[in-house]
Amino acid sequence: MIVVMKSQSDQQDLDEILEVIKEEGFEAHLSQGVETTIIGLIGDTAGKEQVQSRLASFSSVEKVIPILDPYKLTGWKFKPEKTVIEVGEVKIGGEKPVVMAGPCAVENEEQLMTTARAVKEAGAEVLRGGAFKPRTSPYSFQGLGEEGLKLLDQARQETGLKIITELMDLDHLELVAEYTDIIQIGARNMQNYPLLSAIGKLDKPAMLKRGMSATIREWLLAAEYIMCEGNQQVILCERGIRTFGEETRNTLDLSSVPMVNELSHLPVIVDPSHGTGRWELVNPMARAAIAVGVDGLLVEVHPNPKEALSDGPQSLKLKKFAQLMADIKMIHESLGESQGTRWPSAI
Ligand code: PEP
Ligand code: MN
Repeated sequence: MIVVMKSQSDQQDLDEILEVIKEEGFEAHLSQGVETTIIGLIGDTAGKEQVQSRLASFSSVEKVIPILDPYKLTGWKFKPEKTVIEVGEVKIGGEKPVVMAGPCAVENEEQLMTTARAVKEAGAEVLRGGAFKPRTSPYSFQGLGEEGLKLLDQARQETGLKIITELMDLDHLELVAEYTDIIQIGARNMQNYPLLSAIGKLDKPAMLKRGMSATIREWLLAAEYIMCEGNQQVILCERGIRTFGEETRNTLDLSSVPMVNELSHLPVIVDPSHGTGRWELVNPMARAAIAVGVDGLLVEVHPNPKEALSDGPQSLKLKKFAQLMADIKMIHESLGESQGTRWPSAI
């Protein structure tokens, strides 16, 4: 249920409504836009018509709308303005797509620093790199752990890039949160609800990857798990889903981008590296992603993919990444005003 306040209502009116919401046993989530103040009631409001009429009886209330669809916090009804996540000066969901690039896994100082300098030079704004790696086989390289986080911090200090790295396990929550600017939640953990709830209690942006066989509904509901705990800074990342093809690692579902833009105000980014599993397909799919209106890209880059300890076949060499940056800039600029593809048709 959401409460839309009248535009002439003041802080006292708002406090009064918040008090009633609390009294009725709900938590309130406030969204104060330029024009309107909207309060979302968190909790199960099904069958609570008396709460609806009680709230509607206040003269400071414009209307009370029951939200029947499941996207209580991720949906446009609750927040009719696109979410822009600010990581320092980097704005995800703003005018310009943000590129996050770097190796699949942090391997050593030289590998990370060489990549960081090159992706920065090419125009990336965020450095990616796994320190705790969710590998399919327990015998594959599992990541450097805290040492990897320290190297990411060193790269941030030298280059000014922001950092994104994956959190796999509740036990590492504080450690990873201390080092990273954005927490990555991997495809394998999209439905790890205790992990999502714990991240929901942090004041830190989180990027939620789509599970490898998750529907869009399951993906958005996973985002709800984070948001209903208080953390509204969620970025969605389409990374391909499992279908029956053998030529590519996954099938990159680019239709999910305009679909999510119809349903949700959250920024969506695309990962063409895991989405295809082949470096040759990364540039074309990155260009296509820009054309469908993504808010950013996540791209794996390695100075020497043949020697990479993880995901070499889908990693771009430094020069190829610079080419990708030039190519997507051209596509983005050529779209001009038709950036309207990023907003829902109803608005
Ligand atoms: C990654 O980004 O390196 C990764 C493991 O991705 P995913 O969770 O999408 O498989
Ligand atoms: Mn990877």
